[in-house]
Amino acid sequence: MRQKQIKGFNLDELIVMCEENNFSAFRAKQIYHWMYRHGALDILDMNNLPDDLLKYLKNNFTIKTLEIERIQNSNTEDTKKILFKTTDGKLIESVSMIDKNLHTVCISSQVGCNVDCKFCATGIMGFTRNLSCGEIIDQIIQITNLREEAITNVVYMGMGEPFLNYNEVIKSANILHDPNGMNLGKNRITISTSGILPKIKQYIDERQPYKLAISLNATTDAIRTKIIPINKKWNIEMILNELDHYPSDKKNMVMLEYVLLKDINDSKEDAEKLSFYANRLHCKVNIIPFNDIGNQYSRPDDDTINDFIHILHKNQENYQTLVRWSKGLDIDAACGQLSTVSQ
Ligand code: SAH
Ligand code: SF4
Repeated sequence: MRQKQIKGFNLDELIVMCEENNFSAFRAKQIYHWMYRHGALDILDMNNLPDDLLKYLKNNFTIKTLEIERIQNSNTEDTKKILFKTTDGKLIESVSMIDKNLHTVCISSQVGCNVDCKFCATGIMGFTRNLSCGEIIDQIIQITNLREEAITNVVYMGMGEPFLNYNEVIKSANILHDPNGMNLGKNRITISTSGILPKIKQYIDERQPYKLAISLNATTDAIRTKIIPINKKWNIEMILNELDHYPSDKKNMVMLEYVLLKDINDSKEDAEKLSFYANRLHCKVNIIPFNDIGNQYSRPDDDTINDFIHILHKNQENYQTLVRWSKGLDIDAACGQLSTVSQ
């Protein structure tokens, strides 16, 4: 019988598991601490558990959900791209970026993605399966063990569409945030979606505390549908209407991401329209100059990018503008470049 993965159990599930097997509930908290606070990668490391419980765990569960297959180091920044293999042989990637006193980790939520955005390497590889909560968390745990600097920020911006794996993604964010778990502040966790409207609605209704980023990427439905086909179903106005309900405050504003594609969405009219949308919401606008993935799209020249940003700054009333010059370009670790097709 294939052993179950224990990584990914939350505290309630561990308590049920302990009680059903006649172990005291306080053991659940110890197991929880071992997994998420201490990052144990072997059940036998849990050295304050009684032998019979250790034996039970060892016989019934595995704790390591991912093996590191390869690490690539950038020559220009302190950025590493880590290729992981799941226990069923699937490949996923995560990126660890250290810059000044920030250590940001970009994690995957699915093996591939079926949203089919035309500018994204993950989209081109297609969809294989969702990652479990344990596999999502294990990316963080293994990167913590790999690096000396503590992780300060986690972004769900690697491979996959987090809102098409909503339950496991939220469960993993809860464990990251839990003071008894990995104790990461709620504003240090960002979940990015291409615009899965029913899940955006659920996320806002549930008052999830983590930062929300929306990949807007166009200002007209005609262009957005061309580059993000799900826009046919959930268009720009529907998304903005939903975001009107986002409970923004100074520390947690919704973020509109906008990948700048040459001659597609980089005109002055686009910049004017984007600033109009952004002023309507209280938000951050994150401009991401396109990172090459070897298809028909390209990055606008620097003058066009600067003109675009200038218009955003000029119109800025109710939003902030950030430009994300991606990290790890030399190892294909930048936004949208993650793909495990040709490994
Ligand atoms: N699936 C989620 C999160 C992963 S993509 C989403 O789409 O939001 C993370 C960000 O990278 C998104 O804003 C996406 O629009 C952007 N992106 C995708 N491909 C890119 C590329 N080739 N260059 C720059 N950004 C890209
Ligand atoms: Fe999927 Fe996001 Fe890539 Fe679109 S941009 S294909 S949603 S990973």
